[in-house]
Amino acid sequence: MTVELISVGTEILLGNIVNTNAAYLAEKCALLGLSCYHQSAVGDNEERLNEAIRLALSRSDIVILSGGLGPTKDDITKEVAAKVFGREIKEDAHTKERIQEYFRQVHSGQITSNNWKQAMVPEGAIVVDNHNGTAPGLIIEEDGKAAILLPGPPNEIKPMFEQDIASYLNKLQPEGIYSKMVKICSIGESKAETMVSDLMDTQTNPTLAPYAKTGEVHFRVTARAKSEEEAEELMKPMVDELYKRFGDKIYTTEEEVTLEEAIVELLKEKNLLVTTAESCTGGLLAGRLLNVAGASAVYKEGYITYSNDAKERILDVKKETLMEYGAVSPQTAYEMAAGAAKAAGADAALSVTGIAGPGGGTKEKPVGLVYVGCCVKGNVRVEEFYFTGSRDKNRDYSVVRALTLLRE
Ligand code: ATP
Ligand code: MG
Repeated sequence: MTVELISVGTEILLGNIVNTNAAYLAEKCALLGLSCYHQSAVGDNEERLNEAIRLALSRSDIVILSGGLGPTKDDITKEVAAKVFGREIKEDAHTKERIQEYFRQVHSGQITSNNWKQAMVPEGAIVVDNHNGTAPGLIIEEDGKAAILLPGPPNEIKPMFEQDIASYLNKLQPEGIYSKMVKICSIGESKAETMVSDLMDTQTNPTLAPYAKTGEVHFRVTARAKSEEEAEELMKPMVDELYKRFGDKIYTTEEEVTLEEAIVELLKEKNLLVTTAESCTGGLLAGRLLNVAGASAVYKEGYITYSNDAKERILDVKKETLMEYGAVSPQTAYEMAAGAAKAAGADAALSVTGIAGPGGGTKEKPVGLVYVGCCVKGNVRVEEFYFTGSRDKNRDYSVVRALTLLRE
């Protein structure tokens, strides 16, 4: 089934607003298994909008329009769509009541006369309530095709899509869409993609698509099927193939499970108490771990040791180490991890020391150089990374890389 998007508004054509609705709708439609081959943007102009709707209906099963449903004169989407379908526009009692109620609650009853325009609905259209504004969504169906009219403001279109439009679109399709997220860490994005490019290029059911996430790679496996069981069967060979290629770099296939949750779960299973010693990440690593409800079972205390003095005093990093190799060095990362484990009486410890930037880099130790240490039961290993992002990104990457070490 094909879908086509039309974004209505002169502001979009002039570049005054960024067309985030199209990006949002395109992504949602793809997740529903709809094929989108065309998108367009049209100004608030009757003739050109009329032409755009006709063209879209001629080549796509479903046309989703966003914007131009409001009360002002330049909002003409509904009127033009009604004309294309040859429908009269009539007052809808239910919508009128909702508008009245909305103004009672939000604007203490002050309704301007042009707001009643929004209670006017093309004959036979399905009215979709707007819980965050006054203009309802509208669906006009004819000859197996449908035009879906949605309001422009993102805070209105998104909940409307999620609450009502997605299920409407799903019902139109004989087959449902099922998906699984395969989440991978400890490997770069481009490397991961090249490792599965053959699968991405050739597979149609299920499909495989990558999603970038700081320091991680997520692959969505999506299948069209008549039932969940059938979908599971279709997806299994693909998921097995991903396990063959990535092995234990895959930390979950559950959509909701985050890396830190998987790590906390692993620590619980192994009955390990963990601690953290952070310099350049300033507590972000501890924060990530403690985002997980129930992390108290595996984490009691941690350390932010930003200065050399703190590293010496709290973590027992040797003065000579700091003098000879510097705070950003594998030796310091090593001693921070070992020292933290000892100080906290923990089985495992992660340490991070690096140059997050933007300043502070030298030729030998550039911005983005980060050492991450991991001590498990007295065995310490240190890894070196050269990140190339902003301060924020470098710190985020450091956190992910540190967490990842606990799985290896
Ligand atoms: P309103 O009742 O607010 O007039 P509307 O349905 O008539 O809503 P528009 O008038 O087209 O929608 O747009 C209203 C506002 O919604 C715009 O000023 C803009 O902030 C936002 N908006 C509209 N279209 C888009 C879009 N394609 N992407 C992102 N934001 C948009
Ligand atoms: Mg408007």
